[in-house]
Amino acid sequence: MAPISQASIEEKNNGSENMGEKAKMINCNTVLWEVKSSIRGVMAELQTLSNSEKTVISLGTGDPTANPQFLGRRPPFIDSLSSALTCSLSDSYAPSFGLPSARRAVAEHLNRALDNNTVGGPAPFHVSSDDVFLTSGATQAIHSILTVISSAGGNVLLPRPGFSLYDFACDIAGVRRRYYDLLPSRRWEADPNQIRAVADDLTLAIVLINPNNPSGAAFSANHILQIAEIARDLNIPIIADEVYGGIVFGGGSFIPMANFAHIAPVITIGSLAKRWMVPGWRLGWLVICDPQGTLQKVREATEIFMNVNSGPASVIQAALPSVLSNANEKFHENVVKLLDLCADTLFRGLEKIEALRCYSRPQGAMFMMVEVDTSRLLGIESDMDFAKELMKEESILVLPGSILGLKNWVRFFFGLPPGLLNDACERMRSFCERRMINVRQI
Ligand SMILES: *Cc1c(COP(=O)(O)O)cnc(C)c1O
Repeated sequence: MAPISQASIEEKNNGSENMGEKAKMINCNTVLWEVKSSIRGVMAELQTLSNSEKTVISLGTGDPTANPQFLGRRPPFIDSLSSALTCSLSDSYAPSFGLPSARRAVAEHLNRALDNNTVGGPAPFHVSSDDVFLTSGATQAIHSILTVISSAGGNVLLPRPGFSLYDFACDIAGVRRRYYDLLPSRRWEADPNQIRAVADDLTLAIVLINPNNPSGAAFSANHILQIAEIARDLNIPIIADEVYGGIVFGGGSFIPMANFAHIAPVITIGSLAKRWMVPGWRLGWLVICDPQGTLQKVREATEIFMNVNSGPASVIQAALPSVLSNANEKFHENVVKLLDLCADTLFRGLEKIEALRCYSRPQGAMFMMVEVDTSRLLGIESDMDFAKELMKEESILVLPGSILGLKNWVRFFFGLPPGLLNDACERMRSFCERRMINVRQI
């Protein structure tokens, strides 16, 4: 997210009116000024509106640790951190690309996923620890790769609805943004012809988020192959955001993009934040999956960039081999089982609400997008109105879709205990009923 909050920018604005004659405002990077509606900024504004008589239920931001009694209860590998503390490596600077043991653990982790999903090539493709760069969360991986591939006038293809961090990271890296649409009527898969139509000679890469935030889609092997073929024809890499890799349920499966690396080069991004539920550990990775060697320059530029950057804390890196080991399968299975139940609970609850339209039940990640029929709700003209009024009357926090590029949709995070999700649906149902236009006219 943007390092400068909306509040602090406004404070500075107000401050300038009170400044003396002589003092002159010092300028800063104007790109940051254009970062107007970060998710956190909008969430903070919505949060101030709640109805004091009702406890707030937050379906807004996607923090899996927000409910410590539920998904966020302490994972089994927490102890590996205390053993890492006693390791002498943990006090030193880690090498620029990460501790060798930690890079190896990420390579092995990705290779296991590739072995389990051999839909791609003739033989499963494997990465090595030299392909892995450790970063401070997926956030740093995203900023890094966009900076590395940036070139004058170049553009990157982003999904819409999307994840706003990519918009900001493109702007900061000086990369133009172009959008391809994820289509609700096609289980959120994109139209390959549209992707080809928005690309041109200056297209540098295509971003695919799978399993998908915000739609909850888990893309089919066939769709992922289509994306690989487009990238091959355009001679560009795929930036595969697989932060929700392995979080699939309800019939969905996770196909790592690197399965198709023999067709087009892939830069895989991952993180401990979501599947391992330790977002505060700030450990992510970027893996160059390049069997054909066309990313050699990108790889070298990434090395140069990482050499002048600083990655995750050594102590967290030292714990990584045991965090990523097979020993935690039970924990992951349980989380996926809970999320499946949550997705089902929210989907069934929202389906009953007339003014909301749910296209498909989520099959991955922790989110669902729902269309709001504003024409049927009195006093609600936009997704922002919906979010504000819902918060004012029912203390339910949701994310307006316009922030993600989809007007009159809202995003729901469903990683909450099913009882709370049922309460939230009940409150939303009565909110919508009170405002149904045809009901009032009868
Ligand atoms: C949460 C998230 C990230 C950021 O992950 P961090 O490791 O917390 O930086 C990146 N991409 C997507 C799609 C996410 O949902």
